[in-house]
Amino acid sequence: MKVLTVSDEVVEALHSPALAHYAQGVEAILACGDLPVNYLDYLVSMLNVPMFYVMGNHGGEGGEGDYPEGGENVDLRVVEYKGLLIAGLEGAQRYNNKPHFQYTENEMRARIAALTPALMLNKARYGRYLDVLITHAPPHLIHDSADYAHRGFKSFVWFIEHYQPRYLIHGHVHVYDKREETVTVCGATTIVNAYGYKILDIAPIKSRMST
Ligand SMILES: [Zn+2]
Repeated sequence: MKVLTVSDEVVEALHSPALAHYAQGVEAILACGDLPVNYLDYLVSMLNVPMFYVMGNHGGEGGEGDYPEGGENVDLRVVEYKGLLIAGLEGAQRYNNKPHFQYTENEMRARIAALTPALMLNKARYGRYLDVLITHAPPHLIHDSADYAHRGFKSFVWFIEHYQPRYLIHGHVHVYDKREETVTVCGATTIVNAYGYKILDIAPIKSRMST
């Protein structure tokens, strides 16, 4: 299944009628945060496909109106779409005293714990915990940087090792040099920095249903 991933920067080519050309055959949008609502709403309404999203640290500062209307917030949830199990964890490492969508490592660990029952249920029902985790922040030492606001979460590394999603798709880390690594394989998981946009082809796995 072709999915459009977006994060952190409005891509003018997508925010235009050329979108239909770029996103031909796309069946879902995965948005990893820090994008204006009008851009996300444009993508959803023009492509007419579902969008699953998490908020970034710059999202939502203006209140509820900053949440996109047309999508599904998957923070702390798992959804199933066309055979793909998608979960989300919003926000970035805490870096100031006005935490908004910012979490300490301990807080993120607790958030993962809150997501765990849904993952266990998936394992029982489908034989796997999930296929795709969308986050705003990267995992520790993968695509992250040393500055305080852009450190990755160690708990995401733990998550990858334990739940082995096929993809972890994140944003937050801006890419200014095309040579920077944006796709990294770690065990069973491909970690993708969605900065700007990417089109991924994720084949749904035939599920082993309990019924
Ligand atoms: Zn960010």
